[in-house]
Amino acid sequence: MATTVSAWGAPAGKAPLEKMQIERRELGEHDIYIDVKYAGICHSDIHTVRDEWGPANYPLVPGHEIAGVVSAVGNGVTLHQVGDLVGVGCFVDSCRECAACREGDQQYCEKGMVGTYNATHYSGEVAQGGYAQGHVVDENYALKIPASLPLDKAAPLLCAGITVYSPLKHWNAGPGKRVAVVGMGGLGHMAVKIAAAMGADVTVLSQSLSKLEDGLRFGAKEFYATSDPETFTTLAGSFDMIINTVAANIDINATLSLVKRNGSLVLVGAPENPDTYSAFSLIGGRKSLAGSMIGGIEETQEMLDFCAEHNITPEIEVISAESINEAYDRVVASDVRYRFVIDAATI
Ligand SMILES: [Zn+2]
Ligand SMILES: [Zn+2]
Repeated sequence: MATTVSAWGAPAGKAPLEKMQIERRELGEHDIYIDVKYAGICHSDIHTVRDEWGPANYPLVPGHEIAGVVSAVGNGVTLHQVGDLVGVGCFVDSCRECAACREGDQQYCEKGMVGTYNATHYSGEVAQGGYAQGHVVDENYALKIPASLPLDKAAPLLCAGITVYSPLKHWNAGPGKRVAVVGMGGLGHMAVKIAAAMGADVTVLSQSLSKLEDGLRFGAKEFYATSDPETFTTLAGSFDMIINTVAANIDINATLSLVKRNGSLVLVGAPENPDTYSAFSLIGGRKSLAGSMIGGIEETQEMLDFCAEHNITPEIEVISAESINEAYDRVVASDVRYRFVIDAATI
């Protein structure tokens, strides 16, 4: 039997989120039921709910940073047991057959991965996200949360953590590499912590110096304001890799001027309007402009294990469901240090 659970979602585009009841499907052979304990608030939730990334389907329950406890399993489940601590990130299924899926890059599935919310399962079922008291997911798309990670702090790793871990690893952030992180919000502060733990020499490029102390505490060696034109002379040609976590338009050419010969500027933030850049900014130093989107299942597990091993967790503010709409406004105003996490007991 399907289960009815309390959730918080938007009844229509641009409408505030409100408490609602949604159905979770009956457990299939390979499904697990998760008692959701915490759900992180990602900027993508806000873009989607507010129709900023194209028309969404309503009612819409967002949330793709889900942490909880397995409370029931289908007959064929072998990967998880009742009582296990598990997480769900940005997708809940993929075709499992294409080259991307076979190589562990399920996020780039050629058939199209099934997003955790504002998406439709291959079966036609509407996927609703994690701002809910319970969630049903295929066992292959749930991650194991190491016991040393507190569940509330583990939640944001499922999107913010993997979004920066995957490119840092792909572009070889590590000892002897100079990495700059543009923007120190939900994604950026995790990028600083993870890149530093990987052994890279980390610099933060933030609009102002207001988060300088935090940046150094998170592991950055240097911190510069992009509002100061001198930053661009001082740091010209300095970085092997720059990861841009800002979800607004940045000056791509100016940022590329800070990249070393053969270095890369990697975008993980997606602004509403297209960026512009000049080819000269790239060809003058054989530089690369690249992008990256979350990570695959195996890599997400690797990231969780890495964070547990290196004792890395996001800075969070736990809120009750009643405060979600206010929290959204604060995220948009960059007034959060550094991630809101909803206590699912209040949903
Ligand atoms: Zn996200
Ligand atoms: Zn696939």
